[in-house]
Parts: sequence; structure tokens; C-alpha cells
Amino acid sequence: MLSVEEARQQMLETIPVLGTEKRDILDCSDYVLAEQLIASENIPPFDNSAMDGFAVRSEDVKNASNNKPAALSVVETIAAGNAPQKNVTVGQAARIMTGAMMPAGADAVVMQEVTELKGDKVTILDSVEKDENVRFTGESVMQGDSVMSAGKVLRPPEVSMLASLNCAEVLVHRKPTVAIVSTGDELTPLGEPLTPGKIRDSNRYGLYAQVQNAGGFPIDMGIAPDDEVETERIFLESVAKADALITSGGVSVGEHDVVKNVLMKLGEMNFWRVAMKPGKPQVYGKIDGKPIFGLPGNPVSSLVVFELFVRPALLKMAGHSDLLRPTFKAVLEADVTNKDGRVNFMRAILTEQDGQYTAKTTGPQGSGILHSLVLANGLITIPSGASLRAGETVDAQFLH
Ligand code: AMP
Ligand code: MG
Repeated sequence: MLSVEEARQQMLETIPVLGTEKRDILDCSDYVLAEQLIASENIPPFDNSAMDGFAVRSEDVKNASNNKPAALSVVETIAAGNAPQKNVTVGQAARIMTGAMMPAGADAVVMQEVTELKGDKVTILDSVEKDENVRFTGESVMQGDSVMSAGKVLRPPEVSMLASLNCAEVLVHRKPTVAIVSTGDELTPLGEPLTPGKIRDSNRYGLYAQVQNAGGFPIDMGIAPDDEVETERIFLESVAKADALITSGGVSVGEHDVVKNVLMKLGEMNFWRVAMKPGKPQVYGKIDGKPIFGLPGNPVSSLVVFELFVRPALLKMAGHSDLLRPTFKAVLEADVTNKDGRVNFMRAILTEQDGQYTAKTTGPQGSGILHSLVLANGLITIPSGASLRAGETVDAQFLH
């Protein structure tokens, strides 16, 4: 059986990065840039004031102080958005607002707080150095600079930068559309009464939320019965509509577990079963080049396998290169053993205290006990065969 790392690497190697599209920058947040961005303009586009105050020749106020104020005559007021009309010459100043263009002749700005204005005369009570309180043309970005490279994730600062550079549209990788199917004759849609032997279909909803959370666009394909013909039909419809398919249930060794057979009939199966708990039975393969993730039916297994396998795959499809959640060390609050031959991902509450995380498991850890995940904010990794004492550290990761 493959280890988690082996299976994940094997899977990720076969995951395609989706093609590109132009998007309006009002709708590009969290997309991955697919082009290099060269600045077509300087930012800022002109020398301007960083303060409300007076644009001066630093020479004229170099000895100014409370005791020895310098008196200047004010030639004009320059508001942000307006171009100066006058030059500043010896003994002169211009009233200037933050962001307003520096007038020719001035080489510094004295902030308003150290000045006294009376009529068209200003008294300067402090000296300034040349260039002080001036923001220079291109000091943030110079025309021709490479500002961002392909692969950059567009967070709010990047979106703001695109706007600063007059880019209304940007080339990004598409985010995946993902079909989601629950399998199982026992599953009852919401709103219908539960008859004997039936349960609610919860996985489809959890997976739907996980796909959205991973930046994908879920497509609800409903419930497939434990029947090969119908499952095949839904699989074909799914790959026609979506970039990937996630199924839950029907991947174990039961007589009615039809997902593997249908996958092998329509496409190829890459692996089945991974040495992990929860989530041993899981299948990965492709139909028409599109990734198919057959997740286990148990609610915890389905959510955890999504987290460890499908989430990184969807991120790769969307062009990301940082695919895995960061792991860190956490100190166990109680003894934990794992007699199983598989690594155990236990649901835990991770709490930070003085720069150190502690981990407390969330009660019964059966793979059907969804509540253990509802209470958790993270997973801790208990290696196969480990018998760990309170106070020892384990690898941990958040689920968000
Ligand atoms: P299976 O892998 O299909 O044998 O399912 C394993 C367990 O998960 C069974 O107890 C199923 O009833 C349960 N299960 C399967 N699919 C779902 C689902 N969509 N929502 C909730 N439980 C499910
Ligand atoms: Mg089933």
C-alpha cells in the first residue's frame, strides 16, 4: 500500500494545470497570475508631497527653529489633483496638500504642524532636509520594471497594484469546476423522511463547501445509486461538465462498491488504497484526462482525504505551487497510541500558548463520527505503531 506522501506525489505529478483566461480585476482575487507584468507607467507618476504643509526650498529654511523662524511668502495653494501654476523661488513657498504635485523650484515639504500661516505669509518653525516629505516619480515602481511574475497569487495588494498600473484585465489560470457525486443506495436527500436503513447524504454538502473553500467551483451531481450503469452515466455527464470529479462512497471491497469498476471501464485507475486512517480505501484515476477522486464514504474519511489529497490537487489545477498546508509541532496534552499499521490523522484542537502549540484530541475518533471534526480546528499526525506520552510533540496542521 502506498504511503500518504507517495500517493500524493504520484497523484500530483499527473494533475494538469488548467489553461488561462482574461479576467476583470474586480473579479480576480485569489487567482494565479499567468503572465509577467511589466510596469507601463511610473508609480507615482510625478514628484508629490507626502504631507499637508508647505513646499519650500530647503536652503531657505535650513536654520529655521522655534527661536529663529523663517518667513516665506506663499505663492499659491496646490491641491491633490491639480498641477502647480507657479515656481517657488528664493523666499517663497507653496501651500501643498498630500499627494499634490511638487512645484518647480521647491525641493522639500515642511509639515503644516511646524508652520504658522497668516494671510500670504508663512512662518516656518523647523528646518527640513532636501527631499524631505517628497515622494518621487517611480519610487514605488519604475516604468519597465517587472512587477509580478507568472505564478503570483493575486491577493488584495496585487489587485491594487494591477489598478495602479492601469491593468483593467489580467491573464490568470482558470479555477477548476468540480463535479461532486455521492454514491450509495442508503442515501436520502435533505427534506425527505428517513425510512428504515436510510441515512442522510452529508458528504456531498461537506465536499461542496470544501471545493468552494479551495477556490474551485462545485457542480452538484446528486446521488448515484449503487448501480454500475447509472454510476457510469453520471460519471460521463460529470467529466463532460467539469474539470474534475469527486465521488464519495463505493470504493471499498463491498459487493456494491462500483466506483472502481466504473473508473476502470471509462478511464484509468492510478491507485486504490493509501496507508492512512481515516481514509484507507480511496481511488484516484482519470477519465478523458480529467482527475477522478473516489473518496471513502465515511464522513470523516471523505473530509480528511479531501483535505490531504484533493485540496492540493485543485490548487495545482488553478496554477498554485504552494499546495500543502504548513505543518508545525504541537505538544500532546494526553497520551496517544496508534497500534495500526497506518498513519493516523487525529482530529484535534490546536491552541497556541507563548509561541508553542498544544494538541488535544476531540474524543472518539471513528471515521463515521463527524462530530470529532466539527469540534476540531486541526489534524495531528500519529505515525503507525507510535505510543506517545503527554508532553511529546507531534506534527500538526490546521484545517483552515
Ligand atoms: P461505503 O464506502 O460506500 O461503504 O460507505 C462507508 C460508510 O459511509 C457507510 O456507512 C455509508 O453509509 C457512509 N456514507 C457513504 N456515503 C455517505 C454520504 N454521502 N453521507 C454520509 N454517509 C455516507
Ligand atoms: Mg456505499
